[in-house]
Amino acid sequence: MPHFSPVTPDIIQHLIAILGAEAVSTARAEIELHAQDQSHHPAHDAEVVIFPTTAEQIAAVLKLANERCIPVTPWGVGTGLEGNSIPLYGGILLSLERMTRIIEVHADDFQVTVEPGIGHKDLNAALARYGLFFPPDPGANATVGGMLANNAAGIRTVKYGASKDNVLRMQVALADGRLIRVGSRSVKQSSGYDLLHLFVGSEGTLGVITEATLKLVPIAAHMSAIVASFADVEAAVQTVVAVRGSGLDPAALELVDAAHCRMLRETEGVDLPDHPTLFMEFHVALPEALESVIESVKAICEEMGALRIHTATDAAERKRLWHARHASYEIMVRSHPDQKFFINDVAVPISQYPNLISTIERVKAEMGITAYMIGHAGDGNIHVEFPYRSPDDFAKAMEANGRIVQRAIELGGTATGEHGVGIGKAKYLPMEHGEGLDVMRAIKHTLDPNGILNPGKIFLES
Ligand SMILES: Cc1cc2nc3c(=O)[nH]c(=O)nc-3n(C[C@H](O)[C@H](O)[C@H](O)COP(=O)(O)OP(=O)(O)OC[C@H]3O[C@@H](n4cnc5c(N)ncnc54)[C@H](O)[C@@H]3O)c2cc1C
Repeated sequence: MPHFSPVTPDIIQHLIAILGAEAVSTARAEIELHAQDQSHHPAHDAEVVIFPTTAEQIAAVLKLANERCIPVTPWGVGTGLEGNSIPLYGGILLSLERMTRIIEVHADDFQVTVEPGIGHKDLNAALARYGLFFPPDPGANATVGGMLANNAAGIRTVKYGASKDNVLRMQVALADGRLIRVGSRSVKQSSGYDLLHLFVGSEGTLGVITEATLKLVPIAAHMSAIVASFADVEAAVQTVVAVRGSGLDPAALELVDAAHCRMLRETEGVDLPDHPTLFMEFHVALPEALESVIESVKAICEEMGALRIHTATDAAERKRLWHARHASYEIMVRSHPDQKFFINDVAVPISQYPNLISTIERVKAEMGITAYMIGHAGDGNIHVEFPYRSPDDFAKAMEANGRIVQRAIELGGTATGEHGVGIGKAKYLPMEHGEGLDVMRAIKHTLDPNGILNPGKIFLES
């Protein structure tokens, strides 16, 4: 257990001197608002919540916290699903919510430089007039900083990559108060160690991202959604592998299980049968290309025994379908008002996806538990959602999750495809990384010797 110092009235005065009184709060409401993310992990109170507006302020706060040994937990907007931003050891909760500026759109370079607190949906709304967008798309309106810190991904990752693939340069405040730039605006970079990607996915444990230059992509001129339902999950999953193997390059390829389809029909009025269903989207530049892509995908689905195939090229209908897919987790939570949910997040190489899904089905059957499945199938990622009421149910869900994680790692995959390690996945990292975890610890110690940055995350010990 680390020995941190408390936030004393003297520290509060120092914080006010750096940030101004309006940016420092010990109000109960603020503490509670920043005590828990969207995960199942219990809430923890910070001692003070701060709202910096410049990188220099963040650097000065970190320098102070480092000298006084006070924990600092960065906070985007708290949509994390692994307790990543819960201030486990109290201290300073550093909210980026007042740093939401678009600093510069480099339209000719397909790039934008932003402050870290901007929500990716707000960013994309502002970029629409340039005909460009930032593709990583977790369902929630997560901040760019939170997405980079968690290396968030989402439904478009299968074509456009995760957050790590869509960032070129960042400014980062280090624990000792230095402000450094990592990466460059060149899309090709071969200049020394890749510090940019060291900070991506580090969950606020190595530094605070204070600015980011992101890669953008032109909004596709022609798009089509294709929704195909199958008699069983195996047929749906084999179709995922076939579509990926066809070279048709889906922009989204999502698996939604029969239970989610029923909930989407009952609550959103989406016309779906009670069968495992693939939601797909294709982006092309020319209309003739779209027609031939649709025909080819339909042929693959028919060959794999699809019971029903529906295509939608109309923007409004596509939007409605994707809204329903995005809302599916919230709809499921709302449909089970007396239960809580634990979500797993494993990913494997695409050839092993059928193997992973059959393991999940087997674990569920052997343990006699209810669990739902939804996933970014196109990149081998699945979320198993375990509802629970009692501590016994929760313990069973954890045991099932442990078996699924172990299998994913054996299949060449990972304990977490996109939600990050946070609190819950730390116990699986030795299994996944072996001695590599010691190297991670050494890096953490070098950059943050007092362990003040987001303690209690990624590593079991702090
Ligand atoms: C309904 C729902 C659907 C979701 N779907 C997806 C999905 O499809 N794919 C996916 O990847 N995730 C998904 N998520 C999870 C979540 O949206 C992502 O993990 C996201 O990256 C969190 O961003 P945030 O801004 O909310 O960050 P927070 O949750 O506030 O913080 C996340 C982590 O980033 C750190 N952090 C925040 N800002 C900074 C910064 N500027 N510098 C350094 N560290 C920082 C925090 O300390 C914490 O460790 C979903 C969540 C919900 C609720």
